[in-house]
Amino acid sequence: MAKQFKPETLCVQAGWSPKKGEPRVLPIYQSTTFKYDTSEQMARLFDLEDSGYFYTRLQNPTNDAVAAKIAALEGGVGAMLTSSGQAANFYAVFNICQAGDHFVCSSAIYGGTFNLFNVTMKKLGIDVTFVNPDDPEEEIAKAFRPNTKALFGETISNPALEVLDIEKFARIAHSHGVPLIVDNTFPTPINCRPFEWGADIVVHSTTKYMDGHATSVGGAIVDSGNFDWDAHAEKFPGLCTPDESYHGLTYTKAFGKMAYITKATAQLMRDLGSIQSPMNAFLLNLGLETLHLRMPQHCKNAKKVAEYLQKNDKVAWVNYCGLPGNKYYELAQKYMPNGSCGVISFGLKGGREVAIRFMDHLKLAAIVTHVADARTCVLHPASHTHRQLTDEQLIEAGVRPDLIRFSVGIENAEDIIADIEQALNA
Ligand SMILES: *Cc1c(COP(=O)(O)O)cnc(C)c1O
Repeated sequence: MAKQFKPETLCVQAGWSPKKGEPRVLPIYQSTTFKYDTSEQMARLFDLEDSGYFYTRLQNPTNDAVAAKIAALEGGVGAMLTSSGQAANFYAVFNICQAGDHFVCSSAIYGGTFNLFNVTMKKLGIDVTFVNPDDPEEEIAKAFRPNTKALFGETISNPALEVLDIEKFARIAHSHGVPLIVDNTFPTPINCRPFEWGADIVVHSTTKYMDGHATSVGGAIVDSGNFDWDAHAEKFPGLCTPDESYHGLTYTKAFGKMAYITKATAQLMRDLGSIQSPMNAFLLNLGLETLHLRMPQHCKNAKKVAEYLQKNDKVAWVNYCGLPGNKYYELAQKYMPNGSCGVISFGLKGGREVAIRFMDHLKLAAIVTHVADARTCVLHPASHTHRQLTDEQLIEAGVRPDLIRFSVGIENAEDIIADIEQALNA
């Protein structure tokens, strides 16, 4: 199914193809475990000699169907669902980095990811160097060390809305023999498919547009199958040398293009267990079925709201990569010609205090710690998601202290603009 159909069809149909007499709708396999007829059948599963289900911490049919849909949408060979976007980002890096290793990361990333990489993973002995993604290649290359194992970036950063030059990052990663991992949460594969530009691994917070209705926290990791781990075997012993916990099986030899994603499931999910519940995967799938309809509406509305704000004299600045003149307009046109996302940011004249007062007067747009949802919502990162960051780190992450993150929903754009107008005048 993955190859012959277009994204709209994949959103609706991929992942679950019922056979005769089976449910038309993807069932929720709300079962921790799965039955076998002989002890030998089960034993083969534990040795990864057969594929099949035995315990939902490792794999579940509902989750696998939804992962297969996301893999098809991204054009990857396989995917794994996780309990959250944070878990997806952690697993994506931890799958190829261990204590003593290092990776390089764009500084324009989500605050939660920044904290995970800069604080928690350092406690595990995995070091990171943050680079300015807009720096020239030679400058970014200086951050690489002999023990560097990956390069990481976000297609459109949350909330700074900086657009990643994916081809440039892929060149830098590959010239150092490491994969490029891209968090593609904001554009979704409807607007950008990073594998087509050289990324090797894609991660998602499915909590955002993919679910789209703010019902379920979740994440996903997608493997392009393109990175040649064996060509850099000395860097990736976890993939290219025997795993004693599976009787000396070597992932690249046993699973080829599926080595990375199989290891993530068979080893990391087995040991760390941040699975997505089948119920949440079912809800995520309902969201995915309309992703191709919602994304264009988010983008269309966001552009109208951004244009309105740009003309309003109470507004100090507007940041939306879909606006001509924006610093990232050209990159957005290159990587996302059909639209970027529904999230915009802006600052009001008068700064931080005026921003907070404006937000308190909004009626339709709700103040929530969420983004990329069918309903318009708003957040002040410096007071909320990015509270832990110093002013210096805020600026480095592209988040000004007066920045209002406005996530434009799929309501009528005139109603959203009227709400902004009354709050600006209040
Ligand atoms: C929200 C978000 C995350 C974290 O995802 P959760 O599902 O909240 O754990 C990671 N990356 C980006 C770009 C995000 O927007």
